[in-house]
Order: sequence, then C-alpha cells, then structure tokens
Amino acid sequence: MSVLVVGSVALDTIKTPFGKEKSILGGSATFSSVSASIFSPVNLVAVVGDDFPKTYLKVFKDKGIDTKGLITEKGQTFRWEGEYGWDFSDPKTIATHLNVFATFDPKIPKEYKNTKHVFLANIDPQIQMKVLNQVNKPKLIACDTMNYWIEKKKKELLKLLKKVDVFLVNESEAKEFTHEANLVTAGKNLLKLGPNVVIIKKGEHGVLLFTKNHIFATPAFLLESVYDPTGAGDTFAGGFMGYLAKCKKYNQTTLRNAVVYASVMATFAVEDFSLRRLCSVTASDVSKRIQEFRKFTTF
Ligand code: AMP
Repeated sequence: MSVLVVGSVALDTIKTPFGKEKSILGGSATFSSVSASIFSPVNLVAVVGDDFPKTYLKVFKDKGIDTKGLITEKGQTFRWEGEYGWDFSDPKTIATHLNVFATFDPKIPKEYKNTKHVFLANIDPQIQMKVLNQVNKPKLIACDTMNYWIEKKKKELLKLLKKVDVFLVNESEAKEFTHEANLVTAGKNLLKLGPNVVIIKKGEHGVLLFTKNHIFATPAFLLESVYDPTGAGDTFAGGFMGYLAKCKKYNQTTLRNAVVYASVMATFAVEDFSLRRLCSVTASDVSKRIQEFRKFTTF
C-alpha cells in the first residue's frame, strides 16, 4: 500500500565537525519519502522554487516516487541552514527561509486522495492540516514537527494532533512541547493530546514508543561512521510509515518492528551529507543491519 508524504523539499547548508556543504538536497519530505520508498510506493506533495536543480528531481524519479504532487513555483526553494557541534543531538538552526512554502496551498492530485497511509512530515502545521482535509479516510496518519513550529504555531499543532494516529518528536521537542523534563511523563502527556501512538526519538540513544498500555524502548543501531545527522528523524519516520504500509497491520508487534526498521533506515541517512548514502540503500543492506541489530540486542 502507498504512503502519501507531505513536507519540505529543501536546499540545505550544513556544517558539522566533518565539513560544510552548501545548497545540498534536503528537506523533511525528501528524506522521509526516499526512506519509505524502500518498503512501499510513495506519493509526494511539496513545492520547490524555480531555482531547484533538475538533477535533484531525478533522485525522486530514480526511487520510483510519484512526483505528481511536487509542484514548482516561481521563487526560491525552501532553505535551511544548520550547524552541529560534537553533540549531534543538538543542531543549531542558523537560518530558515520558507520561501515558496510561505504561500504554499497544497492541492492533492485526485490519484492520491485514497492513499491509506499519510505521513505529515515536518512543515507548517496549517499545511499539514490542509493535506489531511483533502484525503479520504486514511487508515493511518502520522505527523512530525520541530521546535520551529512548536514555538510559532502550537495552537495549530494541537488542533492537528487531535486528528493523527502517530506523533513523532525528538527528545528536546517532547520536553519543550509538554514542559516536562521526564521523557516517560512527556510521552504519556503527548498521548493525552490525541494520538494513539507517540514516538520519542533520542538520537544515538534510541527510541521510546508509547501506546495506551505499553512502552517499548530500543537502543539505536551502533554506528561508527556518522558525518551529518541531518534528516535522521525524517528518514526514521519515512521508514516507520513505509514499513507499516507494507505490513498493513498496526499491532504491538508490527509497531515495534517498524521502530527497529526505522532506526536502521536512519543510520543510512547519517553516514554522509544529504541523501548520498540513503539513495543507494537496497533491501539487502537493510536486512543485513537488521541481523546485526538483533545480535547486539538479544540476551
Ligand atoms: P531532521 O534532521 O530529521 O530533524 O530534519 C532535517 C531536515 O528538516 C532538513 O533537511 C531541513 O531542510 C528540514 N527543516 C528544517 N527546518 C524546517 C522547518 N521549519 N520546516 C520544515 N522542514 C525543515
């Protein structure tokens, strides 16, 4: 089954202790759609400006992602500039230029309207809501966000959360959103806002999965070659949704498996800048890392 993804398609400028790269392909929808496409067909909804390089469009085509919903408008593509120190869990936003996203009014192609899995990747919650309002009874709706939107559009985000099944956030966003220092309490409080499933991503320290009666904790995959953490969260989310769309079931077992597959997908995003490694990932690469993951988590 397909996954509909809406979110940012961006030109990022990224600095990490390992280098600086300007105007490289990024964006929440970019990482998540490429990641989901390993497991399931993907329909993409986003906007780019007329400065967006054609070679970057090829990345989506090569992964078989449907880009009918990716429109080009006059103006500049969304741009994000971020910097990481040695602590990769703490990115510093240098600049966010919404550009064509500031006025984006998404129109969902009619072929996408019955998509059963909808992933509202990190973007303005009002755009996320507009997309949700145009789809017919999806089976599973997940949404991501970030501190930028928690600070600027919390009211809109709260309205959206009442309509979604799965909410994904990282550790600092969960704390900022709930004003809670304890992650277990933060997760439980987020469940009260509407979603049946809350996922708190803790970067290299793993993931917490909250449902009404269960909490599941898993470490992250033990990876040594981390160069640029940009997109790890989006890649996680795309992998999570793509995996569930393939399973077509959302019980404790499939949710827990989806979290592990998602964690493994995220490792491919951080091994190089932009999507350079993620784009070449095969199903067999994923299986190998799942086997390794089993080895270091079984006792
Ligand atoms: P992640 O590292 O998974 O949290 O996401 C990084 C990606 O999010 C980058 O490629 C950025 O282009 C994109 N991004 C950064 N800020 C925003 C924002 N305010 N809205 C949407 N996307 C953003």
